[in-house]
Amino acid sequence: KLYNQVQDLKGNIRVYCRVRPFLPGQSNLSTVGHIDDGSITILTPPKYGKEGHKSFTFNKVFGPFATQEEVFSDTQPLIRSVLDGYNVCIFAYGQTGAGKTYTMSGPKVLTEQSFGVNYRALNDLFHISKERKDTFCYEISVQMIEIYNEQVRDLLASDGDIRNSSQTGFAVPDANSVPVTSTTEVIELMDIGQKNRAVSATSMNDRSSRSHSCLTIHVQGRELASGVVVRGCMHLVDLAGSERVNKSEVKGDRLKEAQHINKSLAALGDVISALAQKSSHIPYRNSKLTQLLQDSLGGQAKTLMFVHISPEVDAVSETLSTLKFAERVA
Ligand code: ADP
Ligand code: MG
Repeated sequence: KLYNQVQDLKGNIRVYCRVRPFLPGQSNLSTVGHIDDGSITILTPPKYGKEGHKSFTFNKVFGPFATQEEVFSDTQPLIRSVLDGYNVCIFAYGQTGAGKTYTMSGPKVLTEQSFGVNYRALNDLFHISKERKDTFCYEISVQMIEIYNEQVRDLLASDGDIRNSSQTGFAVPDANSVPVTSTTEVIELMDIGQKNRAVSATSMNDRSSRSHSCLTIHVQGRELASGVVVRGCMHLVDLAGSERVNKSEVKGDRLKEAQHINKSLAALGDVISALAQKSSHIPYRNSKLTQLLQDSLGGQAKTLMFVHISPEVDAVSETLSTLKFAERVA
């Protein structure tokens, strides 16, 4: 309740920044200066101006020691609102290696403490839906898609194709939608999805950093007494790496990929900032991603953007561009 009031005051868009810790073996020279609950200061080399630092303000800043549980606890109210019939988008943005997949899914070797937002959100969904079983009957189903070079692939279809069966009310209308009853089932599906993703990687070594992946959870709840049905959905989107590529260094397919990524991330930024400014025209049509998520961006829908930064001095220029992107949508 309180959360919804806060949402009403601030609008339905929140931006959280998360700083990755140094990885084993990295030198500990950090570009991150002061961090507090809602702001972060980046120490900048002389070419970025003589102040030597730049500060950015967000709804929340998580430092390198923030646990997965802490990061999720601020996300939790959104989960409840999906069961109440809201649409929610949670995005992970940042350069490759900054911790997007860690936040959304967790590290490669998972322990209970390291579960990411995906698993925790699903656990909560199933948990709350069981708590309400005397008053509501919930049906939960998932879709998994990938957007690569502005092409959508269904990661839960054996052939990857999107079929053209328009079911109304679903934001990703034509992808396979699989009914699920437990987090374990979803984890199995996600493994299948990840494998389908890897199969198509052909010659490219890391497809995952150059495509957007989206896990969508549809929830339909029927109130037992009245028969009234509410529908909500949640999109958990691990975006392609935001790093800019040097046009003089890459050509051909790699350049085309980079251009698609830049274009779609820019389009996402444009949509969210237009929504934040309550603009009358929201440019959804400029990318596949924003087209697909149109029903879940704007209106009553709630958006949470996690922007990730790496602490290394070497990453400072990407870090600044990530934070500028984030500040524009905040
Ligand atoms: P991205 O998905 O943005 O490319 P990853 O999530 O794969 O980045 O993170 C890169 C590496 O850093 C991985 O080895 C990951 O486990 C580790 N890592 C990222 N964020 C954290 C964190 N908050 N705490 C510990 N390790 C992290
Ligand atoms: Mg990743």
